[in-house]
Amino acid sequence: MVVGSVALDSVFTPFGETADALGGSAVHFSVAGSLLSKVKVVGVIGSDYPVKELERLASRGIDWSGVERVDGESFRWKGKYSYDLQSRETLETRLGVFATFRPKLPESWRDTPYLFLGNIDPELQLSVLEQVRRPKLVVCDTMNYWIQGKRPELMKLLERVDVLLVNDGEARELSGNWNIHKAGRWILERGPKLVVIKQGEYGALLMDPSRTFYVPAYPLEEVFDPTGAGDAFAGGFMGYLARVDSVAPEQMRRAMVYGSAMGSFAVEGFDIRGFDGVDFDAVQRRVKAFVDLTHVPAAEPLP
Ligand code: AMP
Repeated sequence: MVVGSVALDSVFTPFGETADALGGSAVHFSVAGSLLSKVKVVGVIGSDYPVKELERLASRGIDWSGVERVDGESFRWKGKYSYDLQSRETLETRLGVFATFRPKLPESWRDTPYLFLGNIDPELQLSVLEQVRRPKLVVCDTMNYWIQGKRPELMKLLERVDVLLVNDGEARELSGNWNIHKAGRWILERGPKLVVIKQGEYGALLMDPSRTFYVPAYPLEEVFDPTGAGDAFAGGFMGYLARVDSVAPEQMRRAMVYGSAMGSFAVEGFDIRGFDGVDFDAVQRRVKAFVDLTHVPAAEPLP
C-alpha cells in the first residue's frame, strides 16, 4: 500500500516537455510496483483529474479505490531539468485538494503488511501510518519541499519508520552533512534501521549502522525524463519485498537491484511512458543485466 501524491505534472527537459501529465509519487510508485505485486493506493484527486487514465492502469493490478475524488483542483507540480539532467528546479507546487486531505483507510486495508509512505505532507504520512496495524515494513520518502516546510513533523515520522529512502540532495539537506555517508549515519541515529540514498546515474546505497551496500545505475544511452525515478525505485524495492514476503538482509539487497531496474525504466520516457511495454519478463531481464554488470568471478589465488 502506498500513500502519496496523485498529480498532474508539467515537466521541461532539454529533450522535450509535458503539460498536466499523469504523475505524483503514488502514481510512479504504483506503475513500477505493480510489475511485482498488487498495489493499493491512498490519495486524493480533484474534479479536473483524468480518471479514465487512472482506470486504464487498474488492469496492471493497481487498486485506486482508496483515492478519494473531491471538488477542487488536483495536486500540480511543475519542474525544469538542467542540460545534464542532474539537477532540477521546482517551478511550482500547487497542493490543491491535498491541502485539506484527511486520509481514512478502509477497514480491510488496515492490515496491510508492506507500507510505503510516498513523498507527501509528513502529517498525511503519519496519519496513514497510525491507521495501519503492525505492518511488517514501513518505508518512507520525502523531498526538499517538506524538509524545509515541515521539519518537526518529518522528524517525528522518522522515529517510526523502518527505512528512509531519499536522494543524495535530500539526505544532505535533512542532515546538514555534505558527506553522504555522514548524512546516512545521521539519519540512522534518528529512527530508521536502514537508509537508502539514491544518487541518480551514480547508483544507490543501502546503509545500516555497520555496513553499506551499493548498486550502480543501469548504463543507459538515452534518458528522457528523470521525474519519478525515485518513486519507481521505491516501487521496485517494495514490490519485490512484498512479493517474496521477507525483510531479510539478503532480500533487502536484492530489492535494491529491483529498485534500480525500475528507476532505469522510469527515465526512458516522459511521465509514466518509460514503462510502456515493460512486463515481468522485461524486469527480470534487466535485473539479470545488473548481475552481469556487477558480478566478480571468484578470485584464483594470485601467482
Ligand atoms: P521524483 O522524481 O521521484 O522525486 O518524484 C517526482 C514526483 O513527485 C512528481 O511526479 C511530482 O508530482 C511529485 N512531487 C513533486 N513535489 C512534490 C511534493 N512537494 N509533494 C508530493 N509530491 C511531489
